[in-house]
Amino acid sequence: YAAKTRQCGSLLYHAQLDAGSQESLSLLSELRRAVENNELRLYLQPKIDLQRGKVIGAEALVRWQHPVRGLVPPMQFIPFAEQTGFIRVLSAWVLAGSARFAREARDAGLTLRLSVNLSTRDLMDQELPAKIEAMLAPLEVAPGSLCLEITESAIMDDPERALSTLEHLHAMGFKLSIDDFGTGYSSLAYLKRLPVDELKIDKSFVMAMERDLDDARIVRSTIELAHNLGLSVVAEGLETAKAWAMLAQLGCDEGQGYFICKPMPQEQFVTWAKTWQPPDVSATAESTLAR
Ligand code: C2E
Ligand code: MG
Ligand code: MG
Ligand code: MG
Repeated sequence: YAAKTRQCGSLLYHAQLDAGSQESLSLLSELRRAVENNELRLYLQPKIDLQRGKVIGAEALVRWQHPVRGLVPPMQFIPFAEQTGFIRVLSAWVLAGSARFAREARDAGLTLRLSVNLSTRDLMDQELPAKIEAMLAPLEVAPGSLCLEITESAIMDDPERALSTLEHLHAMGFKLSIDDFGTGYSSLAYLKRLPVDELKIDKSFVMAMERDLDDARIVRSTIELAHNLGLSVVAEGLETAKAWAMLAQLGCDEGQGYFICKPMPQEQFVTWAKTWQPPDVSATAESTLAR
């Protein structure tokens, strides 16, 4: 945690430095209050089919509308919530909101798959699959309408236990994705064993690929690896028309990034998706990496 703390260096996140301290206890009670007082906000960022330009889903990203500090980004409280175990409450909140949104969108004529981020602590919870199923049933939302994103590091914390939860979730029909792929410590041996459907290329590679040939090669190899293993592949951090054209040319299935849209409050999503027009990126295509 020391390294992460230095990276973020925010006031809120700082409180975890001394777990059990007054600061940390008050942050935990503030978080509890945030859930009770409806201060959490569900933001959604579109996921687009890069070959056809269609909206196929959205990633749920939580924010905290703090009465004093304003809109707090997730990196300022998620790591703290993970450390204290409060993340299970947050995850349940995000899962419930995403399931409700999937239903609302369907009623409005849009079929979307909602991607939700899970943490190590969630994977350690043997009851998680049953809890999610119970959340979906009254909404008549199928497990396949949710994609659960897990990072390599969350899996590698306790691979055997994570694997057992993931197998359970997969058997129930949930889609599974490896987030920030390429930045963690998972081995290809684990990748082979994991019942995942999707790889999400970390945005650091995607954002750098236009200027750095090595990043571009990593992106290309990851797309090939995913496809060779029968997985679909998503690029996050798609910030330019040229990046879209390159990714489409490399066969990348889906994209997500500021070039398409920044995460928006869930209330705005349906209107956004219904008015979305895919841009013409053909003029920016580049063939340097094509074979
Ligand atoms: P992530 O799951 O990898 O989500 C993608 C992050 O990249 C989001 O940041 C998104 O806003 C950002 N992003 C998307 N496209 C672009 C782009 O084109 N350029 C740049 N520079 N950034 C882009 P956000 O919303 O701040 O979330 C950060 C991280 O916080 C997430 O990374 C995820 O690890 C975590 N997080 C967010 N919401 C949740 C949640 O509900 N539960 C859990 N466990 N973690 C969450
Ligand atoms: Mg994610
Ligand atoms: Mg990611
Ligand atoms: Mg990330």
